[in-house]
Amino acid sequence: MAYEALARRWRPKIFTEVIGQKESVKALVNALDSDRLHHAYLFSGPRGVGKTTIARIFAKSLNCAEGITSLPCGKCPACLEIDRGSMIDLIEVDAASRTKVEETRQLLDNVQYSPTRSRFKIYLIDEVHMFSKHSFNALLKTLEEPPPHVKFLLATTDPEKLPVTVLSRCLKFGLKKVGPEIIVSQLEKILTDEKIPYDMESLSYLARASDGSVRDALSLLDQAIVHGKGQLVSEEIGKMLGLAQHETIFTMLNLVSAGEGEQLLELSRKLAAQGSNYELIMNQMLQVLRRVAVLQIVGQAVDDYEEHKLEINELAKVISPENCQLFYEIILQGLKNLEISADYETGFEMTLVRLLAFKPETLSSENPLKAIMNDGTVQVNDAPVKESVGHTEREEPQGLQETDLSKRWVALIKRLSLTGLPGELARNSTLIKKEGHTFYLEVSSEFSGLIQPNYVEAIAKAVSDNLKKEIKVEVTESDDSTKITLANMENEEIADKKELIEKGMDSNPNIERFKSVFDAKLESLKLKSEL
Ligand SMILES: [Zn+2]
Repeated sequence: MAYEALARRWRPKIFTEVIGQKESVKALVNALDSDRLHHAYLFSGPRGVGKTTIARIFAKSLNCAEGITSLPCGKCPACLEIDRGSMIDLIEVDAASRTKVEETRQLLDNVQYSPTRSRFKIYLIDEVHMFSKHSFNALLKTLEEPPPHVKFLLATTDPEKLPVTVLSRCLKFGLKKVGPEIIVSQLEKILTDEKIPYDMESLSYLARASDGSVRDALSLLDQAIVHGKGQLVSEEIGKMLGLAQHETIFTMLNLVSAGEGEQLLELSRKLAAQGSNYELIMNQMLQVLRRVAVLQIVGQAVDDYEEHKLEINELAKVISPENCQLFYEIILQGLKNLEISADYETGFEMTLVRLLAFKPETLSSENPLKAIMNDGTVQVNDAPVKESVGHTEREEPQGLQETDLSKRWVALIKRLSLTGLPGELARNSTLIKKEGHTFYLEVSSEFSGLIQPNYVEAIAKAVSDNLKKEIKVEVTESDDSTKITLANMENEEIADKKELIEKGMDSNPNIERFKSVFDAKLESLKLKSEL
């Protein structure tokens, strides 16, 4: 027997099998049971939530040989034919593919004729918002004076696009996205029935990826079964969906909070090697942070999901509420910038670097403020005010070309994986000239100690590898320390961010409380990257 897609095999045949649309189903059942029938019904809602499925069950209810009923028999010719999609008195129209006036007119011209065999002639018009103006007019004419033997079942994902005149003549049912927990339990039921092994994490991946659409959930399930060779393995599904394992998401956030840059970037490269979907990963990080924030602020997880409560609790302890908000903002911004980054991997990595750079220092455990700060990780220093990083006015660039060149150099070294002292040399260098295959770099005199032949050689090699051609590098000393270098640009960015954080802390209730209790003021803020 040919393989039948799960979505088809598990399509609900009676109202009690419909999931996630309790209210609409209840109203329809009541109408049928009390014989209060309308001549036009509109089912609206996102794709894959059951609009046409419910409409078909409703059609069976109307035409079942056993009489109008909320529980069609499923055995009479009318019920069987509707299930098979071959019932002559159920006319299904996909408005998305049939918007021509002529066809619609022809269709609606036949409205006057009685049903061939059944009680009612039923028109099921899917995506009815796609009708042309003329088609709507033709429909409206019929709706104004409907023959008693005709029922209209309209379905749409976009009810806003329907003319008010049509809307006002329909009994409306707004179907909703199906909640993840409902989808999970439906998947569980199906897999148990189909005797397919699974783990719970798999189901929650699928439920989340389907975004409230039962149809999508089932077709993803079909894919996942093929992918897992007859069983569901969360790791495989993660790969299929381009998701990172939850473990990875939590590990990343813990590494950020601990300031473990090296491990974090290593993990990021591992994700890159797996061909991960950065958009999804960042969305997952946001989701986790949202849960942490809710837990911290509301005090208990007002969650859609039961799983990973323990990890969320742990994170809520190590990330302060301020940082949680800050991380959220940085990741959100990173997500927006992803489109415009050189490549997704770079964009993702830069976001991680920002998270590391802007993490305020952790309070020491003996600090009496700790309790008040609710495990906060904000440095409130009683040391003398630190000289702020000088914002030297940058000199007018000596010609646009050089600025342009040095910016491109900065962009290039961001892509190189130079570490240690050669990395420092590169970060503090500016490209002043390019002749043939030779790059002429300058570093300010404070870093002249870094101008060592083997460091210069390391830069040349990294650049050559990246550009895939043999490059020579020459470095000279300069007394100008304000040129465009990666280090200078990052320092400026950090200074700006600090300003922002300090402003934010001024209005932070915990800080306010601390200030009033200790009659203190916030004087300086240290960033992890400054240590
Ligand atoms: Zn029947």
